[in-house]
Amino acid sequence: MARNYEVVVVGAGVFGAWTAIEIEQRGARVLLLDAYGPASTRSSSGGESRILRMGYGGDELYTAWARESLGAWQRFSCQISQPLFYPTGVLWLGREEEPRARATIEAFRRLSIPHEWLTASQVRQRWPQIDLERGEAAIFEPSGGALAARRAVQAVVAEYERRGGEFRREQVLPPAEIGPWLDEIVLSSGALVTAEQYVFACGAWLAKLFPEAAGTRISPTRQEVFFFGVPPGDRRFAPPLLPVWYRLSDEFYGFPDLDGRGVKIGCDKRGAPQDPDDAEQLMSAEALGEARAALGRILPALAKAPVVESRVCHYENTSSGDFLIDRHPALKNVWLVGGGSGHGFKHGPALGRYVTRLVLESQPPDARFTLAAHSRVAARTIR
Ligand SMILES: Cc1cc2nc3c(=O)[nH]c(=O)nc-3n(C[C@H](O)[C@H](O)[C@H](O)COP(=O)(O)OP(=O)(O)OC[C@H]3O[C@@H](n4cnc5c(N)ncnc54)[C@H](O)[C@@H]3O)c2cc1C
Repeated sequence: MARNYEVVVVGAGVFGAWTAIEIEQRGARVLLLDAYGPASTRSSSGGESRILRMGYGGDELYTAWARESLGAWQRFSCQISQPLFYPTGVLWLGREEEPRARATIEAFRRLSIPHEWLTASQVRQRWPQIDLERGEAAIFEPSGGALAARRAVQAVVAEYERRGGEFRREQVLPPAEIGPWLDEIVLSSGALVTAEQYVFACGAWLAKLFPEAAGTRISPTRQEVFFFGVPPGDRRFAPPLLPVWYRLSDEFYGFPDLDGRGVKIGCDKRGAPQDPDDAEQLMSAEALGEARAALGRILPALAKAPVVESRVCHYENTSSGDFLIDRHPALKNVWLVGGGSGHGFKHGPALGRYVTRLVLESQPPDARFTLAAHSRVAARTIR
């Protein structure tokens, strides 16, 4: 049977966008589909900014992928002449004896990732606007920073189209999970599309599209982020005077005032379950109170700063935080790609290349990414 495409990629978030452009670059005929458009407000990739850090405790795979992706984001940004990466550096605040901080330093040494281990007084000297907790020190990653998330994904899709790749805004209806092959997909418009292989990079929607294979493996949670306004004329909270930060004790992370949007702060702890289609994206007073308190602890001068913007987003979690990349157990030509779990954005380029190799060269995924690995109930080990 003649197929319309070699590969159809469903989902134009960061994972699907980079997968589609990589597959297109290898010369395959590819179609990219998204129900709401690339990096829409409802997607996980649709935020203003995302951290690019290489620190992952002792987990060298994600450190290596983050480093590879940093280079790819920078090259892409140069190629299309759009600044997509803010080289702010990333400051990790934690106690010296903290196992995750120690493991991060050891991984940085093994992989020759530039870093500095700073005492409390060195942090105060360099960033006097930051307040440290008792016993806190810091690791600084000078080559980390922030990605302009929504803009970056939309730029990848625009470049993919410029090179001849096809994108359509369409919803794919859930396929029957009966094998051994998926012959066609049905769009909500009623159209049928056929391909040799299908990659579903659908973030939180993987659980809805494939309830049998992914329903218990991907759990979307509500995550709220707030932007606080900085005092007029005050440059202390914008780059280059303030880096991105992550505080291990309260799991709050923050961004300096990028493009005049305000200082952004969010909490990396998983929130309540949330439906990616129907959730009202209104902030809660409880989350606002916690964010304001966390901001006041780290940047006391902003303790009473006004909220200038807020966003409710979702994580698409696996139980361990490891990505999900595997063939559907019943459908041999269907790949499930997702489980970004609150840290996936930065890895878009490396993941796109990895998935392209699996799909076009019929390679098996690493064991840690498989459905089998995610079927075990595990603690969150990857952050
Ligand atoms: C508040 C917040 C902060 C984060 N911070 C960071 C960070 O600092 N650093 C970092 O690296 N990562 C971070 N992440 C995680 C990162 O943003 C996600 O892991 C990543 O964006 C996931 O991308 P994705 O492509 O898998 O999913 P998504 O971006 O959700 O894309 C999935 C796409 O699939 C489409 N789709 C779904 N179903 C269908 C269908 N049936 N038909 C057609 N299209 C469909 C959707 O419309 C959507 O566009 C954060 C996430 C959040 C929410």
